Amino acid sequence: MELPTRMPGVGTTIFTVMSQLATEHQAINLGQGFPDYNPDPLLLDEVNKAMQEGHNQYPPMPGIPLLREGIREKVKTLYGHDYNSDTEITVMAGASEALMMSIMALVHPGDEVIVIEPFYDLYNPVIALAGATPVIVPMQAPDAAHATYRVDWQRVRDAITPRTRALILNFPHNPTGINLTEADLDALERIVEETGIFLISDEVYEHIVFDGKQHQSLCRRKSLAEKSVVISSFGKTYHVTGWKIGYCCAPAAITAEIRKLHQFNVFTVVSPMQWALARFMANPQHHLDLAGFYQTKQDRLFNGLANTRFKPVKSAGTFFLLADYSEISDMPEAEFAKWLTIEHGVGVIPLSAFYRDPAAPEANHGLVRFCFAKKDATLDQAIERLSKL
Ligand code: PMP
Ligand code: GLN
Repeated sequence: MELPTRMPGVGTTIFTVMSQLATEHQAINLGQGFPDYNPDPLLLDEVNKAMQEGHNQYPPMPGIPLLREGIREKVKTLYGHDYNSDTEITVMAGASEALMMSIMALVHPGDEVIVIEPFYDLYNPVIALAGATPVIVPMQAPDAAHATYRVDWQRVRDAITPRTRALILNFPHNPTGINLTEADLDALERIVEETGIFLISDEVYEHIVFDGKQHQSLCRRKSLAEKSVVISSFGKTYHVTGWKIGYCCAPAAITAEIRKLHQFNVFTVVSPMQWALARFMANPQHHLDLAGFYQTKQDRLFNGLANTRFKPVKSAGTFFLLADYSEISDMPEAEFAKWLTIEHGVGVIPLSAFYRDPAAPEANHGLVRFCFAKKDATLDQAIERLSKL
């Protein structure tokens, strides 16, 4: 049956496609971003405890107060902004729900929304669903003078028109692994001051920032916090991507609109997990230790790949790194990723999948994305296979 579609041009996400391919060919899956290890046993005990205590019915629509209060405290301690946990913090079914609700709440038919390319795959279809148009601003790709991707804020500024409603940001950035600096926040402050647009900030990798650097959350600056929805996910922070719990922080007027949508979308989020997360996050060491944990994993994968014909690029944040395969093949990225999975037993994600037209030459730089949220043994085994190339 042919049905009219609300999401034209959308198929199955690249993460699902590549994970299925990896399973089919018994490849080591360094594609889709999820840990292959369990969370802290303490966190699991807390879930069991919460269930036994009877936390099994509908929690409050915006999330249990203890969890919202924990989020408030953490954000205030790390970034200095004191959100009101009653009116400005909402627990969501993953960052995905928070993103979708934020876009649907802020963006109206006929609006334009700026998206920086390469981009996470959820943004554009949801912008279109809201009846708006994504306006894509490409990052500067790495070249002889610069090893990593860069955002040119002047290009972002130039793309803003009277119809621009919002700018979507995602730092630490999936898939390039770049972060914001204070100078970037300065540039964003100027943009917001001049144009009054909203910012939707996907900060799911906020606790995975390397080399002793600080995460530059948009809520560090008052003028940005007033115009932003700041989104995060417990999935990345506590190794529980399958729990699908995240949150968003935004000024009360924006939060009120987001909650209208959230109450009719899922109404609320799984109760025992909220209790468990609230109690577990009371110890900040869990999120403070995460960057060190992943720094070791990045070093392991980076050093391993550096001994193969791949040229790995160091990430400043996230649990992903890019690697150049131009010494191995001149295949387009999607073809190379499939070939590597099927013929060499290591699944990766083509960077081109994060571009509006993955087949275009501008989307193909001979780069693939590796996930290092994996056991050391998994990483070592993958490196062994890749060193045979
Ligand atoms: N944004 C980015 C940049 C991501 O990488 C992910 C990945 N999983 C999400 C959002 C979605 O997070 P969640 O699983 O909490 O919905
Ligand atoms: N965010 C994860 C990644 O980039 C995937 C999440 C998903 O499969 N939807 O790999």
